[in-house]
Amino acid sequence: MYKSTRGYEKLVSSSYAIINGLAEDKGLYVPFKIHKLKNSLEYLAGLPYEELAFCILKEFLDDFCDDDLRDCIYKAYDKKFEDNKILQIKSISNTHFLELYHGPTLAFKDVALCLFPYLLNKALINNKQKENILILTATSGDTGKAALEGFSDIPRIKIAVLYPKDGTSLIQKLQMITHRSNNSLVISLNGNFDDAQNCIKNILNDSKIKKEFNDNGFILSSANSINIGRLFPQIVYYFYAYGNLLNKNIIKHNEKINIVVPTGNFGNILSAYYAKKLGLPINKLICASNENNVLFDFINTGIYDRRRILKVTNSPSMDILISSNLERLLYDLSNEDSILIKNLMNSLEIQGFYEIPKSLKEKLNEIFYSDFATEKESINAINKVYKNFNYLIDPHTAVAYSVYEKYKEKTKDKTQTIIASTASPFKFPKTILQGLNVNTSNINDIEALNVLSKKTTLPIPTSLKNLDKKPIIHNNICPKDKVLQAIENFAHIGGDLLD
Ligand SMILES: *Cc1c(COP(=O)(O)O)cnc(C)c1O
Repeated sequence: MYKSTRGYEKLVSSSYAIINGLAEDKGLYVPFKIHKLKNSLEYLAGLPYEELAFCILKEFLDDFCDDDLRDCIYKAYDKKFEDNKILQIKSISNTHFLELYHGPTLAFKDVALCLFPYLLNKALINNKQKENILILTATSGDTGKAALEGFSDIPRIKIAVLYPKDGTSLIQKLQMITHRSNNSLVISLNGNFDDAQNCIKNILNDSKIKKEFNDNGFILSSANSINIGRLFPQIVYYFYAYGNLLNKNIIKHNEKINIVVPTGNFGNILSAYYAKKLGLPINKLICASNENNVLFDFINTGIYDRRRILKVTNSPSMDILISSNLERLLYDLSNEDSILIKNLMNSLEIQGFYEIPKSLKEKLNEIFYSDFATEKESINAINKVYKNFNYLIDPHTAVAYSVYEKYKEKTKDKTQTIIASTASPFKFPKTILQGLNVNTSNINDIEALNVLSKKTTLPIPTSLKNLDKKPIIHNNICPKDKVLQAIENFAHIGGDLLD
């Protein structure tokens, strides 16, 4: 069963939590209890990805029957992934890049978003729900296309994606606005990612709006990582990576590892924390920020302060000032003190900041370490890794690498370390070329793809070829106060359909 981080007392099933996204008191759903896995790490290391996913997801989705859960997993993890491999690991001495970007949209979000729609579809059946679902998603670039792809033409589900007009890379934007399916709407928002996320949260939190949609046969939900259906599939790859290192004798039985995660909304690193709770031996979880370093400040001072200007950086999927999933971590670390969490979150919303008690900060620092990389440092990291190891990393992964280098320098820690490699470098070709000292002032992202491919002799991923020649399907630009109307029109509610 699931409960809310803000103390609302009703317990709900996993299907209910997946369908509804947010709890009624605006809190986030969390599992009633997370137990250590019964199976040994050696046993888990011997499983194929799908069966490992089954073992782990079974812990969290207890109202799904085994056959249904397996069915979802096997449908999700098929030929959509390059070479049928969900992930690949590239090791450079004791640093292991966990390449999570071999799915259809070339970012780690595919791993969760290929599975989530199937889970949602089964959840509707488990919950005997008659209504259809309208998914609302804010994106800083990668979630949007991954969600559009995952939900493409899935029965009973419509999806609307909201992205910040100037907040994504050209390739990310093209991936979204050229997306063709019968059930999707893509809106460009005049604002930044936090505006987009707030827009969606405000709609999802408004009981009047929700009722209006309900009356018209739609349940509103979200595909952002505030939905548990997004988080749990991400736990699997940390276990899989650990098993891989065990099988290769790189680590010994029960040896602890570090995990470095380039962090935005705190979903991916929270999944790693849940993996630790399930029994994965983790020494430090290293939270890497870019110049929007709210989390770095928070982990080092105990003060979360969003009162600053959001910068657009080369790692756009981390350009976030309000990391929603942190709420789940603080809930857990505070021994589920929902009154404290409610106060902190209210303070964040109204005053723009909060400070956690000292004892909570100490607990946080036992497990989490954080630093950030400047734009220059992450470009340098791309350069260094390519020059020294002939290996390309994307700008988000470069932030993680740069932070990890600083961590090693400071702590002299030699623990085997996994770096979550979150996107294909080909999604950000201009930034990568800058890292390789190629002048890009006269070319755009699309031209840069070819230059990058020639320079590195690596092929352009198929899904990005001819992206600029595809017809543009979605060209809505909305101010904040028109978003709801656009979504209503899309769902055929209220608005003028001839508009
Ligand atoms: C979404 C994203 C991140 C941030 O992940 P969170 O789970 O939001 O912390 C990092 N890198 C890439 C490439 C992403 O798409």
